Amino acid sequence: PTFDKEKLLKLVQENEIGFIRLQFTDILGSLKNIAIPAKQLEKALNNQIMFDGSSIEGFVRIEESDMYLRPDLSTFAVLPLQSERAKVARLICDVYTTEGVPFEGDPRNVLKRALARAEKLGYACQVGPELEFFLFLTDKDGKPLVQTQDDAGYFDLGPVDLGESARCDMCLALEELGFEIEASHHEAAHGQHEIDFKYGSALRIADDIMTFKLVVKSVAMRHGLHATFMPKPIFGIAGSGMHVNISLTKDGKNAFYDENDPMQLSKEAYHFIAGLLEHARGTALITNPLVNSYKRLVPGYEAPVYIAWSAHNRSPLIRIPSARKAGTRVEVRNPDPSANPYLALAVLINAGLDGIERELMPPASTDSNIYDMSEDERKAAGIENLPAGLDEAIAAYKQDPLLRQCLGHHVFYRYLDAKVAEWDDYRVQIHPWEIDHYLSKN
Ligand code: GLN
Ligand code: MG
Ligand code: MG
Ligand code: MG
Repeated sequence: PTFDKEKLLKLVQENEIGFIRLQFTDILGSLKNIAIPAKQLEKALNNQIMFDGSSIEGFVRIEESDMYLRPDLSTFAVLPLQSERAKVARLICDVYTTEGVPFEGDPRNVLKRALARAEKLGYACQVGPELEFFLFLTDKDGKPLVQTQDDAGYFDLGPVDLGESARCDMCLALEELGFEIEASHHEAAHGQHEIDFKYGSALRIADDIMTFKLVVKSVAMRHGLHATFMPKPIFGIAGSGMHVNISLTKDGKNAFYDENDPMQLSKEAYHFIAGLLEHARGTALITNPLVNSYKRLVPGYEAPVYIAWSAHNRSPLIRIPSARKAGTRVEVRNPDPSANPYLALAVLINAGLDGIERELMPPASTDSNIYDMSEDERKAAGIENLPAGLDEAIAAYKQDPLLRQCLGHHVFYRYLDAKVAEWDDYRVQIHPWEIDHYLSKN
C-alpha cells in the first residue's frame, strides 16, 4: 500500500501508535533504527530526522557525519512485536546527505541504482528468496547454545515440537506484516528450517528480507530459542543458504521464457545466466560475506562449490527450476542469509545485466553430477570453483571491475576494508582443529 503524508498521519493516530521505528541498513547488513514518538512523525515525514552517521558501520567520517532519513511511505507497517504499553510501527528509510542527495553509502540506494540500470534496458526485476536458519536452545540466561532444538533428545514423544510451534508463530507474525507465506518446512539438518514467501519486486524483497530476519529472531526469542542465519554453524551437517530466484519482466511479460527454445529459455535468460557465472567469483564476497560462509560452500551438503548451471540437478551454482511461462526464473544457490540483501541483489542483478548487455553465452549446462567429476574432467568442461575462503573472495572482488561499478566508490572500499580486517583477525587465531591435530604430535 502507498500512503500520502496526511493519510499516514491519520492512520497512526487512529491506530493509537505510540512509536515509529525509522529503519535503515548499514553496509554490512545490520538493521538500524531510530525510534521516534508518534508526535514526531510529521517532522520525520518532512525528512527532518537527522542522525549521526559516524557511529554506523561503514557510513561516514566524523567530520561529515550528519545524515538525514527519508521514510519510504510505502513501507509503513504496524509491527506485531510491540510492547504491551504501546503499538509500534515502522518505516523503512532512505539515507540522504545534508545536501539533500541520496547518500552513496546507503545499501538501499545501491540497489535502487541497479534497478534503474535494469529499467533503462526495459526490465523490471522480480526476486523470490528462500531463507534457511537454525533454531538453537538457550541457557538459563537466554544465551544461545550451539545445540539444536530438535536433537536435544529429552522428550522424543513431546506433544508439540518446540521448533515447529515457533515456526508456525513466525509465519503468523510475518503474515500480519503482509508477507504471503508460500511454504515453510523443516530443512535437512537438525533444528534447521526454511520459510518461503512470495516473490516480488527486488527493492521490496530486500526490505522484506531484513524484516523477515528480525521477525524470525524475535519470535524465536519468545519461544526461548535462538534463531541464527549464520551460514554454517555446525560442522558435518548442512548449512543455511539463501537461494535467490530472479526473473526479469519486459512490458509485463516474463523475459526469460521462449516457447521455441529447446529449454524454453530466451536469449536474455542465457545471457543473464552467463553474466551470473562470469561474475560469480567477484560477487561472492557480497553474497557470501563471512569467513564462515565458505565453510558452507563445500561438497556434500547441497550447497554449490562449482561455477556451473543446470536445469536438472541441485548441485550447481545456478539451477533453472522447471516452471516456465510466467514462472521462468533462475535460482542462484550460493548466497547465504548473512549477506546484506540490498547489496546481494544489486550485484546479482548487475552481473546478469552485464551478460545481457555484452550478449554473453553460458557454456553448455552440466546435467551430470559435478561432484562425481574429477578435477581434470571439470577443467575440460571449463568448470571453475567458487572462492574457497574469504581471502580468495576478497582477491576476486578486487579483480572484477563490476563490483566497483555497481557498489560505487564509497561502498566498494568501506566493504573491502571491513572484510580485509575480518580476514586478518581470523587468520591469526588458533583454531581448535589445530590443537586437535598438532598439539600432541609436535
Ligand atoms: N541447505 C542447503 C544450502 O546450503 C540447501 C538445501 C536445499 O534447499 N535444497 O544451500
Ligand atoms: Mg527451498
Ligand atoms: Mg532449502
Ligand atoms: Mg531452492
